[in-house]
Formats: sequence, C-alpha cells, structure tokens
Amino acid sequence: MRPNISEIRYFETYYFANIVNNILNDPFEYLRSLNDFFGDENYVNFIEPFPKVSRLHDFISFIIDSINYDDTKEAENESFLNGKRKLWIELALEHYELEYDSFQDWLKEKDKNISQAIDDDIADYFRDLMFYGPYEELLEKMSEEIFFILFLNRQTLQRFNQLISHQIQDKELDELNQEDLPYFRKNGVLKRVNIPKWVQRAVLHRDRGMCASCNKDVSGQISIGEIGNFDHIIPLAIGGINDVTNIQLLCENCNKTKQAKNIPTSIKYEKWY
Ligand SMILES: [Zn+2]
Repeated sequence: MRPNISEIRYFETYYFANIVNNILNDPFEYLRSLNDFFGDENYVNFIEPFPKVSRLHDFISFIIDSINYDDTKEAENESFLNGKRKLWIELALEHYELEYDSFQDWLKEKDKNISQAIDDDIADYFRDLMFYGPYEELLEKMSEEIFFILFLNRQTLQRFNQLISHQIQDKELDELNQEDLPYFRKNGVLKRVNIPKWVQRAVLHRDRGMCASCNKDVSGQISIGEIGNFDHIIPLAIGGINDVTNIQLLCENCNKTKQAKNIPTSIKYEKWY
C-alpha cells in the first residue's frame, strides 16, 4: 500500500494550533462563540462513527474561520488600509499556491482603488472567496496541518472529546430525530462499533505501540505476550464518541482498571532518541 502523504507547508500552523489548544484548555472563556460548534442541536455532527475528516478537523476549521472573520472586521482592515499590501487571506492562499482573484483585481472590477476601499469591501471580498473562491480548500489544507500536530497531544484530544461528550450525554432517545436513533444504544450513549483498520493503524503509530497509560509494549512485535486494546479516551458510557481523536492504545490491565471511567490520559511520550 502506498503511504498517504500530505504536504506540510507550515503557514501559521503553530499559531492556530496554539489558539485551538488554549481554547480547549479554557473553553468557558469562549463558551458563547463555541456554542456554534458544540451547541445543543449540533450533536448530529458527532454521531456518525469514524469519519475520516475527524471532528477535530472540523473544529480547527471552525476556529480558523471565526478568527479570519474577526480579523477581517477589525485589526487587519486597519493595517491594510494603512498601507499593508496584502490581506492575510491573500498571503495564506498564496502560500498554499491556490489560485484566487487578488483584492486589487476585485476592486478594479468594482471600479474602485485601494484608497477608496472600506471595511465593507474587505468583508465582501472575503465573502466572495468563501462562496466562489478557494477558501474551503484553504481551510482543508490548514486544518490538515494543524491536526497533524494536535493529534499527537492526547490531553488536548481528551479535552476536546470531553466538550463533545456533554452534547451526547444529555440526549434522550425520545427527543432524537428518527434517523439519528440507530446511532444510539440508549439515552446519552452511542453504540459501540468496530474500530476501522485505518483508525487502529493511526492510533498504534501515534502511541508507538505502547500502552498510553503505563507505556508497556503492546504492539505484538517486540513482546508477543499482549496485543493492545483500542480504548475510547472519553468512554462511550459517559457520552464519548466514535472518532479517531477519541481512541488510544491501552494494555489489557490498564483497560480493565479504566473500564467506563474517565481517567486522565497519560502525558508521557517516548522521546525521539
Ligand atoms: Zn497499561
């Protein structure tokens, strides 16, 4: 099988990874804006098992998007109108070699020049990029890169899944849409499903074949005594979801001790050398 290679171009990747991380560390600070993502009726976005574009990808896109939108409204406009040559969004699109109409060209079409540009123009331009331009593609590429970094951080994954679990926990079967019922086992609990091979491989590699709690080798390659268990970081029983970001590798023993409890995931990682 050919490896699945993705290009990593690092355009403000750490900046956004840091923001996502901070938000997950202290979600109550941001609760109002996060409601658009985690809000009440959004549970439907979390019930389908193991989408390849994980919920964390979605969340990262959501965060980049809201930051872009805020920037478009405020600081960036000012600095742009004071002589900065390009908008942030243009720099990003350029970095990823995506084709787009520059703001200058866009203004020309509207018979305006930069000195006449106002905040509303920037917002309109931005909207055009969103609906007709490569903005979606940009979000996809950026979220893929930021995911690449954050997927290594089990603590962040746990916090993220914890927030989602509140949505699932609250759901009573009789208030669900008919088509969502098959995903649930009972009130507030999603059904257990087979963990796809691609999820198993990703988690096995991320956790380097070691139990994420006691670091025992469970790859079956060095010590054949034991093969790892794929464990839901936030257990299904308390609202955990079936998502690649909610799975970790545990040894038999740690898995048994944990059972349906939400035990903090380990923050220990093997050094590169
Ligand atoms: Zn263990």
